[in-house]
Amino acid sequence: MTTPTTTELGHRSKQPTLVEIDGFRGRLISAHHADYDIARAVWNGAINRHPRLIARCIGVADVVAAVRFARDHDLEIAIRGGGHNVAGTAVCDDGIVIDLSAMRAVRVDPAHRRAWVQGGALWGDVDHETQVHGLVTTGGIVSHTGVAGLTLGGGVGWLMRKHGLTVDNLLAADVVTADGELLRASEDEHPDLFWALSGGGGNFGVVTSFEFRLHCVGPTVLAGPILWDANDASEVLRFYRDFVRDAPDELGTVVRFGTAPPLPVIPTDLHWRPVMMVGNCYAGPIEDGERALGPLRVCRPPLVDLVGPTPYVGFQSALDSTVVHGWNYYWKSTHLPDLSDDLIDVIAEHAFTCASPRSYVAMFHLKGAVSRVAEGGTAFGNRQASHAITLDAVWRPGEDFATRDTAWARGFLAALGRFREGVYVNFLGGDEDPGRVREAYGAFVYDRLVDVKTKYDPDNVFHNNQNIRPRLSHA
Ligand SMILES: Cc1cc2nc3c(=O)[nH]c(=O)nc-3n(C[C@H](O)[C@H](O)[C@H](O)COP(=O)(O)OP(=O)(O)OC[C@H]3O[C@@H](n4cnc5c(N)ncnc54)[C@H](O)[C@@H]3O)c2cc1C
Repeated sequence: MTTPTTTELGHRSKQPTLVEIDGFRGRLISAHHADYDIARAVWNGAINRHPRLIARCIGVADVVAAVRFARDHDLEIAIRGGGHNVAGTAVCDDGIVIDLSAMRAVRVDPAHRRAWVQGGALWGDVDHETQVHGLVTTGGIVSHTGVAGLTLGGGVGWLMRKHGLTVDNLLAADVVTADGELLRASEDEHPDLFWALSGGGGNFGVVTSFEFRLHCVGPTVLAGPILWDANDASEVLRFYRDFVRDAPDELGTVVRFGTAPPLPVIPTDLHWRPVMMVGNCYAGPIEDGERALGPLRVCRPPLVDLVGPTPYVGFQSALDSTVVHGWNYYWKSTHLPDLSDDLIDVIAEHAFTCASPRSYVAMFHLKGAVSRVAEGGTAFGNRQASHAITLDAVWRPGEDFATRDTAWARGFLAALGRFREGVYVNFLGGDEDPGRVREAYGAFVYDRLVDVKTKYDPDNVFHNNQNIRPRLSHA
């Protein structure tokens, strides 16, 4: 029998009420605890919310207990995986955070190329455990991003063109539903729920564990960035457009426009200089990668070419220090078609006009295996788009860039207006028009998601997310 965990439930300003959650063995953190402020903080320092209670779960039973407690007490629920979402939906005001950050275990079966990953794991946890066996699944490009939120939104990364999105590698998930029941969702069990989890976000329940298919990549890959001066961006981008159109699926690229971050691998004389940086990762033999990347490397003399054989795990964390926890972030995003000359002109005109040296633009090249899955095959929308671009305003606490760079991101998105082709739900911010969630999926996928939401969460218990509203919602 478990001892109930108790804490004071109450807002800071009010008298605490002692609460206990039956069957809960993890930690309950409320406003009166010394580490409340650390526990409620998410990656985006611009988010400042005060939940009544943070229920740090250590197992599925805790998640079940927390969901039932929240429903019994009519509390708002936020679900926290890695706490990375820019919109800050992992934390809410006045409600309960079902916090999975203590559930980060990863188990790998190398013989069958499978991994089981708990709902609070980060991508660094997965890469660490899988790369021991030279195995991977498509994950994000920053190692401190949460597996759960990223997977549930779709999952774009270096390997997606060869091995599909993260959801294309999802085999099953354990989910605690709004009723506090544990379900296993897969192609054979609750297939409608499984489909909805493959892009529909945290709308359908709390995922306590994922099962992924793994592939052979690494432990050494040909990877690294090539940097050109910002003045060359327009010309290099025109070359890049034609280059990636014919690139093999093994080649994943992400273009970054901004100042060169002060990373140890980048020569110090380039730090903070405005550059166009093309990050590359080749998911195949090194020599094939050398051949594939050859034309890009010589299309115009770069400031520096840092492509070389690199440990995949190290490459996956190479950008971590450019997006630090606690800085302030504001994102706008859209999917884009192939880069026409007009579109390149818009990008080149706006990309370097932000005020903060930390603000940047990232553009992921999609296509390949992403576009070979039929629209509606999973709940990730707009699979035929060529690029996903994010316009990321970044400023540190105390810096004075918020007004200018949030306006920059909005203005840039407006300038991209006539080219927009949907959006990746995980790149949506906290101040989006409601129509953007529908835009993320397209009408066909969205309407099907509404059906599944209505079946599994008719009261919209899980609505602190990019919300898919059930029909006749009471929330
Ligand atoms: C620096 C940075 C880099 C990024 N890079 C990439 C990238 O390369 N590729 C990419 O695809 N995305 C990327 N993203 C976006 C990322 O996918 C989202 O921010 C995602 O929400 C992060 O997942 P998380 O678990 O950390 O989210 P959290 O902030 O913890 O949660 C966000 C939402 O996800 C849902 N959720 C989280 N955990 C669970 C769970 N266990 N069960 C049910 N629902 C849950 C909830 O609705 C929650 O509100 C990046 C984000 C950042 C900030």
